Amino acid sequence: MDYKDLANLIFPNAKDISYYEEKYAKRNLKEGAIVSRFAPSPTGFVHIGGLYQSLIAKKLAKQTEGVFFLRIEDTDQKREVENGVSDIVNSLKEFGLEPDEGMTSENEEKGEYGPYKQSLRKEIYQAYAKYLIEQGKAYPCFCTSEEIEEIRAKQEGAKIRPGYYGVWAKCRNNTIEEMAEKIKNGEKYIIRFKSPGREDKKIKHHDVIKGNVDFPENDQDIVIIKADGLPTYHFAHTVDDHLMGTTHVIRGDEWLSSVPLHLQLFHELGFKAPKYAHIAPIMKNDNGNKRKLSKRKDAEAAVSYYEEEGIPEEAVKEYLLNIANSNFENWRRANKDKSIDEFELQLNKMSVSGALFDMIKLLDVGKTTISRMSAEEVYKNAYNWAEKHDKELEEMLKDKEYSLKVLGIERGNKKPRKDIAKWSDVKENIEYMYDNKFEKNKEYPYQVINDKEEIKKILNTFIEKYYKDENDKQTWFDNIKELAGELGYAKEVKEFKENPEKYKAHVGDVSTVLRVALTGRTNTPDMYEIMQILGKDKIAKRFEKAIKEMKV
Ligand code: GLU
Repeated sequence: MDYKDLANLIFPNAKDISYYEEKYAKRNLKEGAIVSRFAPSPTGFVHIGGLYQSLIAKKLAKQTEGVFFLRIEDTDQKREVENGVSDIVNSLKEFGLEPDEGMTSENEEKGEYGPYKQSLRKEIYQAYAKYLIEQGKAYPCFCTSEEIEEIRAKQEGAKIRPGYYGVWAKCRNNTIEEMAEKIKNGEKYIIRFKSPGREDKKIKHHDVIKGNVDFPENDQDIVIIKADGLPTYHFAHTVDDHLMGTTHVIRGDEWLSSVPLHLQLFHELGFKAPKYAHIAPIMKNDNGNKRKLSKRKDAEAAVSYYEEEGIPEEAVKEYLLNIANSNFENWRRANKDKSIDEFELQLNKMSVSGALFDMIKLLDVGKTTISRMSAEEVYKNAYNWAEKHDKELEEMLKDKEYSLKVLGIERGNKKPRKDIAKWSDVKENIEYMYDNKFEKNKEYPYQVINDKEEIKKILNTFIEKYYKDENDKQTWFDNIKELAGELGYAKEVKEFKENPEKYKAHVGDVSTVLRVALTGRTNTPDMYEIMQILGKDKIAKRFEKAIKEMKV
C-alpha cells in the first residue's frame, strides 16, 4: 500500500486536481492588474474594517484594470446566521463597492471562478487534500478531542509551545497500513497538513504594507479538512486564492502571523503565492487608550450604523481614504471638486500601524460632501433616508417644491452652507421653515435687545414700513439699517463701537430680534433667503406669534 492508495481510500471520488487547474484558467489581464477580494464570514455583522478593506481592494483593482471579487467564507457553519450573505452584498452595494465577481445575493453569483461560497466548494478542497495525501504531505489524524486536550495540558505543564507539531504530532508517524486499518475500522479522523518546517529556522517575507518581516518557519501540522469534510480557513484560503487568480491578498493584520503557514501551504501545493498586504485596523481612542473598534462596544464599528445615522456613503468612503493614504488630504485640497475615484490609491503608502477613527472629522467630511450637492440631491437623499428612519421628516419633505426651496438656501453658490453632516441632521436643521412645526415653538432666545416693547416696535416697524417681497437683497439689507437708525440703534457696528453711549445697540442686534422672532433661533442660514421663501404674510404671522408668546 502506498500514499496513493491511502488517498483513494480517504477520498475515493475526488477528481484529479488537473481538472480544476484547467477549468479555472489563468486570468487574461494586462500586466500589473491587481486581482483582490473581500472574503468575509457571513456572521450577520459587517465591520467598518471590512468596508475599508473592500474599498481599498476595489479601488486598486479598478486603477489597474484588475478584478475585485466577493468570496463568502462559510466553512465554520456554527457561526452562520440567516441572510448573512445578503447583509454583506447589500452593505457593499450601499457604498458603491459592488464586486466584479462573486456573490450577488444570498444564493446567486456571477463570474467564471465560482462557486464563490466556500461551503459549495467542498469537493474542490477535497481534491487538493487528496493531492497532498498522495505525496505524503497530509495525513489522517485520529486523535480524539480528549487526546488533544491531554497534549495541550502536558505542553502547558512543561511550559512549552502549544500545538500539534514535531514529537507531539502523534498521528504523523503512523504507517500507511496503520492509517488504512484505522479508517477501515471506522475510526473518526480529520486531515492534517504534514508541515516540513522547523521552528528554529527563519523565513523572510515582504509584506506590501508592513515591509520586510522575519518569522520562524511554521512547524504545526494544522488541520486542513475538518470532521465535517469542510476545510479550515488556512487551507481554503490557499486553494481559493490560487484557483481564483488572486494577485494581492489584502486583509486585516490579525492574519500577519499566519503568513509562514500560508506560504508553506502554497509552496507544498506547488502554487505561486500571492502578494500579501496586511492592513492595520481602525482604532479608537478610549479614554487615552488606543484599541481596535469593537463590535461589542462601539456602535460605529458596524457598517449599518452609517446608514442608520444617514452619514452619506461618499463621506464615509472619503474619510476612509483619508485614513488609508496620508497624502489624500493634500490631494483633496488641490482637487476640491474631483470625485474620490480620481484619487490614485497606493498600497505602499498605507500606514503600518492603526489609524484613529475620528468621528468629528468624519462628520466634517460629511458637511463638505453635502455642501457640494444640489438641492435636488440633498432632497433625494434626505427623503430616501427619512422613508426608512424618520416618518416625521418624510411627511415634511412630501411638499417637494417647498422643500427644494428650503434646502436650496445658500446652496449652489461659491460658499455653500455647511451645516448638514448627515441626513439625520436635516429635520432639526429645517424644521422651523415648516409652519405646522413652527406653530409649536415656544422658545425665543432674544439676546442684547430683550425688552418687550422694544421688540414689538422693531417687528412692527419692519413689517409695516421696511419689508417688501420684491426687494432685492441689497435693498432689504439697507432697509434693516434704516429701521435700526429710525429706532435709535447704530446703523453700522463700527459706529456703535466708536460711540456706544450714543445708541441703544446696533443693527446686528436689531437683526437678531428679527431672526429670533422669525425662526426661534439665533443661528440660521441667510435671513433674506428665508424671508423670500416665507413671504410677507407668513413673516407677519410669525411676528404676531412672537409678540403673543412674549413672557414678562
Ligand atoms: N474569512 C477571513 C476573515 O473574515 C478572511 C481573511 C482573508 O481575507 O484572507 O477574516
